[in-house]
Amino acid sequence: MPKYFQPEIETASREQLLEIQNRKIVEQVRHVYDHVPYYRALMQQKGVTPEDIHGVEDIHLLPFLTKADLRDSYPYGLLGADLKDCVRIHSTSGTTGKRVVAFYTKEDVDLWEDCCARAIVAAGGSDEDVCQVCYGYGLFTGGFGLHGGAHKVGCLTLPMSSGNTARQIQFMMDLHSTILCCTPSYAAYIGESLAEQGIRPEDNCLKAGIFGAEPWTEEMRRSIEQSLGIHAYDIYGLTELGGPGVAFECEAQSGMHINEDHFYAEIIDPDTGEVLPEGEKGELVFTSLDKRAFPLLRYRTRDICMLKREQCPCGRTHIKMCKPMGRSDDMLIIRGVNVFPSQIEAVLLSEGYSPNYQIVVDRVNNTDTFDVNVELTAGQFSDKVSETQAREKALEAALRTMLGIGPKVHLVTPQTIARSEGKAVRVIDRRKLHD
Ligand code: ADP
Ligand code: ZN
Repeated sequence: MPKYFQPEIETASREQLLEIQNRKIVEQVRHVYDHVPYYRALMQQKGVTPEDIHGVEDIHLLPFLTKADLRDSYPYGLLGADLKDCVRIHSTSGTTGKRVVAFYTKEDVDLWEDCCARAIVAAGGSDEDVCQVCYGYGLFTGGFGLHGGAHKVGCLTLPMSSGNTARQIQFMMDLHSTILCCTPSYAAYIGESLAEQGIRPEDNCLKAGIFGAEPWTEEMRRSIEQSLGIHAYDIYGLTELGGPGVAFECEAQSGMHINEDHFYAEIIDPDTGEVLPEGEKGELVFTSLDKRAFPLLRYRTRDICMLKREQCPCGRTHIKMCKPMGRSDDMLIIRGVNVFPSQIEAVLLSEGYSPNYQIVVDRVNNTDTFDVNVELTAGQFSDKVSETQAREKALEAALRTMLGIGPKVHLVTPQTIARSEGKAVRVIDRRKLHD
């Protein structure tokens, strides 16, 4: 079984990688300057010319791009290639506002699919595998990205798209799927549905799952691994950079290797824009080194993350990013306290609750209210009110210890919180309606 999809590049020495990055950034900056007037103007405002960029050590001189720039330049303002050389358009899922469209040349699609193929091989995939892709197909990048990667690896590919869980399970069982690709919340739902049908983890042929497109905790990983009887691997990406496969997990399951030959990563202080030293937490910024149709330089992802370069037991040399804690705009400020939904998820799962929860924030008489609805599993359900109340109090205390602020917990009956087939909606912030 192959260990790497592109061994030479995935295990290249630090010096070789740097040499590739330096060569590519010089070409890319020249390409963008010549083809993208929007970015050329930003460079001119900052007084930077392509001649100033000799390698990645000069990247910090370049201006940032933000989601606002993408919206302002919608749809063609950041296009870096002739439309006749573009073969594909994808769009963000619009989780946090207006959609953004991204363009691809044939070569851009090719390198994106290579990145996804690397992820599949890192999860143990080969041409012996049946890869069930239940990320959405369409404008969303998840389906087509993993689909293209699975083809490159030579997997028997099942292009299921998302939804119709009964059919997902039937095909999974009948066609002996070995690798499952979807969002972690949908994987959890599939696990739950299998259990309801009395199908035990050892009854399916799955060995690995490649889950991403939304934040998920280590506790969630363990819960999915148990319910499906698999190893679960994280995959990260965003439409603006092509889609999934910007970074992926290997057998070490301790952070995702960034495909550094295609993407250069920096961590910055989100308030000052200053580049932070390796190992510090901040906003993740990416430069796409060789995508030509939508060549973003220093794109601010708003994802809060850390980078670490360490020797990995898998033999890959590419730098790793930790699981993103969520986006800077996912962070809730409740009565002045910063709260990430992922912190709440970690507490719920470690206290033995299901990953079916919803956080509701509102403002009543100028004070923030903070409620967490958590679904009981069938085994936890009790019709004794006093028992449920005692459980609620215990969970409130555990959450208060973690967050520094106490929510009101409501334990609700099984099957009352909507399941997600794509990205889960964990937060309902009604305060926005009053603003
Ligand atoms: P949208 O911004 O509309 O959700 P995308 O589908 O392109 O559009 O989503 C990209 C975003 O999804 C990333 O910026 C990040 O916030 C989130 N994301 C993707 N993969 C992961 C992952 N493995 N872990 C945490 N967050 C992720
Ligand atoms: Zn590794």
